[in-house]
Amino acid sequence: MQKGKIGVSSDNLFPIIKKFLYSDHDIFLREIVSNAVDATQKLKTLASKGEYSGNLENAKVRVSLDPAAKTLTVSDNGIGMTAEEIEKYINQIAFSGAEEFLDKYKTDAHAIIGHFGLGFYSSFMVSEKVEIISKSYQEGAQAVRWTCDGSPEYNIEDAERDETGTDIIMHINDDSAEFLAKSRLSDILNKYCKFLPVPVVFGKKTTWKDGKETDTDEDNQINETAPAWTKKPVDLKDEDYLAFYKKLYPYSEDPLFNIHLNVDYPFNLTGILYFPKLKNTIEVQKNKIQLYCNQVFVTDSVEGIVPEFLTLLHGVLDSPDIPLNVSRSYLQSDSNVKKISSHITKKVADRLKEIFKENRGEFEKKWDNLKIFIEYGMLTEEKFKEKAKEFFLFKNTDGKYFTFEEYETLIKENQTDKDKKLVYLYTSDAEEQYSFIQAAKNKGYDVLLIDDVLATPLLNRWEQDYPDKRFVRVDSDIVDHLIRKEDPADELSWDEKEELSPIFQSVCPDSKEINYLIDFKDMGETGNPIVITRNEFMRRMKDMGRFQGGMDFYGNLPESLNLVVNTAHPLVKKVFAEKDENIGEELTAINDTLANQKIEREQLEKAKDGKKDEDIPQADKEKLEDLNKHIAQAEQEKQERLKAFGKENPLAKQLVDLALLSNGMLKGEALDKFVKRSVELIK
Ligand code: ADP
Repeated sequence: MQKGKIGVSSDNLFPIIKKFLYSDHDIFLREIVSNAVDATQKLKTLASKGEYSGNLENAKVRVSLDPAAKTLTVSDNGIGMTAEEIEKYINQIAFSGAEEFLDKYKTDAHAIIGHFGLGFYSSFMVSEKVEIISKSYQEGAQAVRWTCDGSPEYNIEDAERDETGTDIIMHINDDSAEFLAKSRLSDILNKYCKFLPVPVVFGKKTTWKDGKETDTDEDNQINETAPAWTKKPVDLKDEDYLAFYKKLYPYSEDPLFNIHLNVDYPFNLTGILYFPKLKNTIEVQKNKIQLYCNQVFVTDSVEGIVPEFLTLLHGVLDSPDIPLNVSRSYLQSDSNVKKISSHITKKVADRLKEIFKENRGEFEKKWDNLKIFIEYGMLTEEKFKEKAKEFFLFKNTDGKYFTFEEYETLIKENQTDKDKKLVYLYTSDAEEQYSFIQAAKNKGYDVLLIDDVLATPLLNRWEQDYPDKRFVRVDSDIVDHLIRKEDPADELSWDEKEELSPIFQSVCPDSKEINYLIDFKDMGETGNPIVITRNEFMRRMKDMGRFQGGMDFYGNLPESLNLVVNTAHPLVKKVFAEKDENIGEELTAINDTLANQKIEREQLEKAKDGKKDEDIPQADKEKLEDLNKHIAQAEQEKQERLKAFGKENPLAKQLVDLALLSNGMLKGEALDKFVKRSVELIK
């Protein structure tokens, strides 16, 4: 027997491995099984070159559990190792600066293991002792046994093994007893080894006999050695792609369509990506793509490897060229990863375009389930946006679909405003904004349905890209002003507005969350008496505030609603008339006084002009101050009078309530009062 010391620069490697690799203990099994698979494939390669003549047809990797002995063994019929090879491959873990590196990447077990080629040593995360019994494929090779208890000392001695290959026997430590449970191991194998290219067997298949689960004679193979993505697209039918999807995501709805990726230059990449049916949210649907490296599962978090929006897709990517062993932040700057990422983006865009061109009807049918993905891509990837412009679809309130170009042609004639801007009208909720949509349609406008979570940022982006286009929600103004064909004429004088606004202001709900701004427009005798609109800019700013952090300022502002009073409506006119009748005389008196005081003030101001402060007589200064006070008082009084009148005026209240009601904003006590007041008014 030979004793030796493992060639590491630190005496304490094993404690470090155990301490730092806490996060992902499972992967030891992946490492050991994939070493066994590699060894088998190496031998197959040798056989194919005629350098090995043994029979490899039934070569398998066997995972076996002995709970009584507390061992877990992985056996293969692979290439095996001689004592010298063990010395070279297992004992000499040549590296430097281990502790420093381990400390830096302590949370990322993949990085550590890959960096050092510590695959085999990960078995010590869960074992108190590991044995290797191996017999090389070479003629007359002597089988050897290597043992190590986790200290840097090992033993190596001759051993017995009939066949070529290797057993890795892990004596599971007490802290890791979970890895002696069959179900736990099944789960791990199913996660990491499901698609390995060499059969992996874990125990026997079972049946139910006499009410008990009993082993059969048949090996329980846990993997599929040639999964769909490793095959050629011509050899696969739609059903095959679907069946493979079901294998990956047994509980998911059928996908919309798929892309089979197959690149071998300038990098190696295979895979199948599926477009799932997406709901109107993004977050919950991420992290479904599985990343493999030569059919070994690595991770299902592909962030940093593919552009963010592609993480909404499902499926499998397999590439030995993705450096999986570096930390995530490193990935983004890796040139291979950049190439892979932009290649996938391009392929995805090309595929969508192809489907759109070949079968537009089918594409339209799937659009609603697809659009979030495309919008997300357009928002976050410039290159994708350029391509997506050809197949992005607008949907209008009649359920018709248009490309950018088609829609522009459709509305150009009727929806260009006085500044030559093309105005896209849209609704975010066809039910809630029903009356606005109808009003717009009656004017011959077309209204788009843009109702998903990415709408606001996307509209903002488009307006940046195309300064000659404007997106306007149908309820952001009265219909005549949505698309202004000429400058608006002001229908009421400033003084009139000043007098009428307090009346309606006084009957608006008292709310801290909502500011009501009163405005007056001639909307015709048959228009509604009052229309409530939401300023497009403020509303979008609030939406953005909700969508992304750091814009709380807008998010927290009270909502501003415009209460547009139709000056041409008979009922509104009636309110005006009632005002004149009730408080007209008082108002005239106040107005007259105000007018006189203002003239006086103007004269005093004029007299001051061009004079230094000390040259102005003290009496004049005092008089001006006095006047200002009086004017303010009179204005105040006028406001109070108007408000008092408004409060007492059931018609004004009723008109405001009606407007609130048609916006779904009249509730609770206010609604109850409205109903009672209506009854009174009808009587
Ligand atoms: P890596 O697999 O990254 O090279 P490992 O520590 O997992 O690092 O393995 C080191 C080397 O030990 C392998 O490259 C291989 O030469 C050898 N080896 C490990 N397991 C086996 C096995 N089951 N059969 C033959 N050789 C093996």
